[in-house]
Amino acid sequence: MLVNLIQVLLGLYLCYQVFLIIYRHVPVSVNYHFTRRCNKACGFCFHTATTSHIEDLPRQKAALRLLAEAGMRKINFAGGEPFLYPKVLGAMIDYCKTDLHLESVSIVTNGSLVKESFLRQHAGKLDILAVSCDSFDEPTNIAIGRGSGDQVQKLYQIAEWCRQYGVAFKLNTVVNKLNVGEDMNAHMAALRPFRWKCFQVLIVRGENDSETGTLRNGHKFTISDEEFDAFCERHRGQACLVPEPNRLMAKSYLILDEYLRFLDRTGKQPSRPILEVGVESALESVYWDEDAFVERGGLYEWTKPEGGQDGCGGGEKLDW
Ligand code: SF4
Repeated sequence: MLVNLIQVLLGLYLCYQVFLIIYRHVPVSVNYHFTRRCNKACGFCFHTATTSHIEDLPRQKAALRLLAEAGMRKINFAGGEPFLYPKVLGAMIDYCKTDLHLESVSIVTNGSLVKESFLRQHAGKLDILAVSCDSFDEPTNIAIGRGSGDQVQKLYQIAEWCRQYGVAFKLNTVVNKLNVGEDMNAHMAALRPFRWKCFQVLIVRGENDSETGTLRNGHKFTISDEEFDAFCERHRGQACLVPEPNRLMAKSYLILDEYLRFLDRTGKQPSRPILEVGVESALESVYWDEDAFVERGGLYEWTKPEGGQDGCGGGEKLDW
């Protein structure tokens, strides 16, 4: 009875969030790429180091507060590589949880610079740590540009730290020409992420779409929809698997860039910085696909799953 009531309440809450996103254009979930700098060089990277700009911490906090006042409930810190700035990152995480009381605070990282001391210090304020890993074969990681020979070992270490300090461990994999034939089932069973997002490698205009005009050329890594489906089919026994084909990924992320502007993925200019024009006006000037955000399950990826990290092989529970 109690379980049913909780499910009904969660369902109503979910409907309310969908209403806010689609009909009132509230920035419920924001991806803040506060730096474009990275210590890796993935060949398909679609948020490339075109600038090394980073805002100072007081401005970043002011922007985060504006977003929270506009309805943000979830923040994801991304890059570039966020752990190039561990002090700034830690300060923002603490601020988002302690001062802004956001429901979900997460980071996406390539993992190479994650330290146990950071997790020990900030675990109470961090809900989800997502680590990008595209292969369990180190030569493949090196060929992709993300590896240096120890990425898999570091990944297992981070998964262990997450369990130890109570942070939900998530895995992101970009399915591309070099890993599309790989069988990752054994590693998923061992790592047990609460969510395993598999993205079809994506071409973004101005970021990775040419040989000469952009820092990266992702075309040599692209795969067909059928190849992507075959990869997902091979891993469909993993309960934590969340496939994200190009159709859902391309425009469904609301991205705030290193200048505190919303990005427009249809090729238009970014918005003005939100500290200059406010969140509402900045949002009005860009396009993001709220329907696709809901369709790809963006609302389900929220706070730490209760009862530990059961993800792959761990049942059907949603990730609230
Ligand atoms: S680790 Fe991420 S941000 Fe860095 S180059 Fe690779 S895809 Fe780009």
